[in-house]
Amino acid sequence: MHILIIEDEKKVANALREGLEKERYEVTIARTGEEGFFLASQRSFDLLLLDLMLPRRDGIDVLATLRKCGNQTPILVVTAKDAVEDRVIGLDQGADDYLTKPFAFSELLARIRALLRRGRMDQILKLRHEDLEMDLVTHKVTRGVRSLDLTSKEFDLLEYLLRHSDRVVSREMLARDVWHATARATPLDNVIDVTMARLRRKVDEPYERKLLHTVRGLGYLLSGRQG
Ligand code: CA
Repeated sequence: MHILIIEDEKKVANALREGLEKERYEVTIARTGEEGFFLASQRSFDLLLLDLMLPRRDGIDVLATLRKCGNQTPILVVTAKDAVEDRVIGLDQGADDYLTKPFAFSELLARIRALLRRGRMDQILKLRHEDLEMDLVTHKVTRGVRSLDLTSKEFDLLEYLLRHSDRVVSREMLARDVWHATARATPLDNVIDVTMARLRRKVDEPYERKLLHTVRGLGYLLSGRQG
């Protein structure tokens, strides 16, 4: 588990590093908001510990910009500012949790563990491809900020395509795994094509960037790389 600490006070940053490394976390430190933003957008971390009062680029700005760019890494804001407004701003901008200095190290560890657990659950319970997201628990499907209204068959079909994204899926595979058919049949092929066409309208029609593609003679493909 790799944690990025964005903190300008050397003493605080080093103490955090020492404590976290003892708990077997891998730690990287950024000393300015600029550097923190750069590292967080270039590399993949499991969690960000973000101070709000930073030189050059403050923590709220780093937080807001990361979220705007689609970065979903859990972020724990750690700061001396304890006014209620600052908390509200931090959470509004997409912080996952908030801890006010001074704090007990054991509390920090507990919050980190909780966020990492939540992050892992989220990965299991959601399927994503680019801006398309499927929640397997609530059955909510969204593309960007828009929510898609799918029938249960369309949902099953899209789930299968998401699990096989960037690979061609044949009609045989869909008949077997999504329609649970034991034998190939022309009427079923037609049903698959019609369901796919309806799903494609819902997922792709308003967007320039298409995600669902027909691969002539082979089947279908969910990918943001084509078209
Ligand atoms: Ca600071």
